[in-house]
Amino acid sequence: MGQWSLVYEGFDPEQEGLREALCTLGNGYFATRGAAAESEADGVHYPGTYLAGGYNRLATQMAGRVVENEDLVNLPNWLPLTFRLPGGPWIRPEQMEILSHVQRLDLKEGMLCRTVRFKDKQGRRSRLEERRLVHMGNPHLAAVQTALVAENWSGDVQVHSSIDGRVTNSGVPRYQKLNGRHLEPLDAGQADRDIIWLKVRTNQSELRVCQAARTRLWIDGKPCAVVPSLRQESGYIGQQFVVNLPRGSELVVDKTVSLFTSRDKAISECGLEARKAAARCGPFASLRETHTLAWKNLWRRFDVEFDHTDPGEGERTAMILHLYMFHVLQSTSMHTMDQDVGVPSRGWHGEAYRGHIFWDELFIFPLLNLRVPEITRSLLMYRYRRLDSARSAAEKAGYRGAMYPWQSGSNGREETQQVHLNPKSGRWIPDNSHLQRHVNAAIAYNIHQYHQVTKDTEFLSFYGAEMFLEIARFWSSITTYNDQARRYEILGVMGPDEYHDAYPQAQKAGLDNNAYTNIMAVWVLSRALEILDLLPQDRRQELCETMGLTEEERDRWQDISGKMRVVFHDDGIISQFEGYEHLEEFDWKGYRERYEDIQRLDRILESEDDTPNRYKVSKQADVLMLFYLFSSEQLQELFTQLGYPFERETIPKNIQYYLERSSHGSTLSRVVHSWVLARSDRARSWRLFKEALESDVADIQGGTTPEGIHLGAMAGVLDLLKRGYLGIEPRGDVLWFNPALPEEMAGLRAQIRYRSHTLDLEIKEGALQVCACRSAQGPVSIGFKGQVFTLEQGETQRFSLS
Ligand code: BGC
Repeated sequence: MGQWSLVYEGFDPEQEGLREALCTLGNGYFATRGAAAESEADGVHYPGTYLAGGYNRLATQMAGRVVENEDLVNLPNWLPLTFRLPGGPWIRPEQMEILSHVQRLDLKEGMLCRTVRFKDKQGRRSRLEERRLVHMGNPHLAAVQTALVAENWSGDVQVHSSIDGRVTNSGVPRYQKLNGRHLEPLDAGQADRDIIWLKVRTNQSELRVCQAARTRLWIDGKPCAVVPSLRQESGYIGQQFVVNLPRGSELVVDKTVSLFTSRDKAISECGLEARKAAARCGPFASLRETHTLAWKNLWRRFDVEFDHTDPGEGERTAMILHLYMFHVLQSTSMHTMDQDVGVPSRGWHGEAYRGHIFWDELFIFPLLNLRVPEITRSLLMYRYRRLDSARSAAEKAGYRGAMYPWQSGSNGREETQQVHLNPKSGRWIPDNSHLQRHVNAAIAYNIHQYHQVTKDTEFLSFYGAEMFLEIARFWSSITTYNDQARRYEILGVMGPDEYHDAYPQAQKAGLDNNAYTNIMAVWVLSRALEILDLLPQDRRQELCETMGLTEEERDRWQDISGKMRVVFHDDGIISQFEGYEHLEEFDWKGYRERYEDIQRLDRILESEDDTPNRYKVSKQADVLMLFYLFSSEQLQELFTQLGYPFERETIPKNIQYYLERSSHGSTLSRVVHSWVLARSDRARSWRLFKEALESDVADIQGGTTPEGIHLGAMAGVLDLLKRGYLGIEPRGDVLWFNPALPEEMAGLRAQIRYRSHTLDLEIKEGALQVCACRSAQGPVSIGFKGQVFTLEQGETQRFSLS
């Protein structure tokens, strides 16, 4: 297998969906699932192609009401390339006798390869070898090269190459009842004999998409000058070739595809551009070369090397980490920078969560910040462009400032579904998850982090500060004063733990004083006041005037920052929300005995006419998020500011308490738990790290990965490896290090970018070495164990870890 290849041997219909998701190829502009070129959506396979941010809305009559959903649209399938032997059916290897079947995702080169040997009913043996790429250098291109070898036969072979726009969104069984017809055919045709093209439009968002495919054939290296016949129907176009293949010969078919949309910049019309690109691009070999080079440059920036005490386990761990980095970079790359898109929680790899943008960027941006912060900047701009939408959402709900949606798509409207299906009970249930207002804190936190790492004051001044201040204003306006407690409160919200959306027996959704939300609000308000001070005087004045930000409002922010309510129970346990202590303890043992998998306790309990709202159970880290995002020094400061005690035992005590009460029903949960234990319980942290590592590669949620990867968990483990284990913390103008490697890791090497400096980091033989290999902007300040050091370009500092 090696560190750089995901290999699957044999064909397994049960595993096919998972393989297709994990073998998705993409470039941050579009992505195509790793379905076989001859496959169709048939319950086993699901070929899907998605444009980053390519959404469309449709209404469906559902449970007595009309629901509208915005979906990431499955675009026309450009993959189909099929073969037919004389007198036989169109080849689907799985319907023949498979002699061997190997699928390999080459992570270094970004290439999906499949070799299948099969025998048909007449005893004819053939070998099919496919190589596929979605170009990382030119975001509009993809190509597939397929070789068919006639091992023991000869005769006329038919080849069919097409673009199929008759596809629907039907990749998620739970959404099956929802309207999934997003595409309308517009036009199609043939150009230059070997090019076909198909243009479609999404029926609500009016996004026009054109794909053009150039198909060329060779036999034993010699081009075939064969004239294809055209097959066309509404939303579909194909070319059919017939060639005579001598025994033992090899037929090679190159299909090169271009994809343009009406959203692209510097174009005339997407159809014209698609045809031009397909006609102009070089042969497969040269596309492969430029594609591989683009990946080489990405890996140079993003790879992290480590030495594992067990080489076998180390190799598998490295492979999974490469796989996850590969998918992060396919979902958000340099090509994303030019697009107005956010970072989707499930990648552009499937239809789960409809390609929506959640708070998961909180787990993804830190990884990008330390490598290519320009990508983060572009993703933050996605939020900035939707600031007005967030302002009107706040106003509509009776608040001030900006209230970003829990799920975001095209224009920043709240896209959270109103009802969701529990596949276990078959019931549609009201979905209150939009009450997770903490997404606003995540956006503010991300702006702050980006600025800490880059010191990009232009961004802060033009865009970041405005978003930040509007979010602060929202927190201030949702906060009410409780005269009795003489504290401020936030009522009627949901924390990250989605198992709790209401009090047991309550008619209304929402919980009071969720500790994570309240403390994040305090953090935002405190930083907002500092950010105002960071701005150049003229910009500060401009912003305060346009926002109407008064002295009194700022005084209120200050006041809330010192008097927000946090509820405790059991002598030092931070209550997830007010009243948490009155919930019942859950029968973990009993449920573990009764059910094989209890990760999704919400579904289990609902199917038993019960609800997790009654119990002390969490789907994912909620209170513990605080220890994930803040160092103990920062928390100490926040608690002191609020006048609450924060003892040395607060962190371990709370970790232990909530760890025992979590089912890890979200893949984000183990990442957080592993992170918060990284220094206090390395063995347990490592176990959780390894479980988190299996999230997608082993589909530990039992069926969710085929519908789309979990980008937050993927980025989260990668970030834990680098930022977590190296203990990297940008604070003030110093980059602090506090390394703690798991016992299983003997050494680690990585490169990071920090405020335009490039730093080489290495842990080996009990020491951390930091080299300022490029410091064009003057020296860099780094900190270790309370001391600050200054490194000039080319200088190295070594810190003993013993
Ligand atoms: C989690 C959320 C997450 C969402 C998208 C849910 O299952 O509970 O925290 O944002 O998935 O990844």
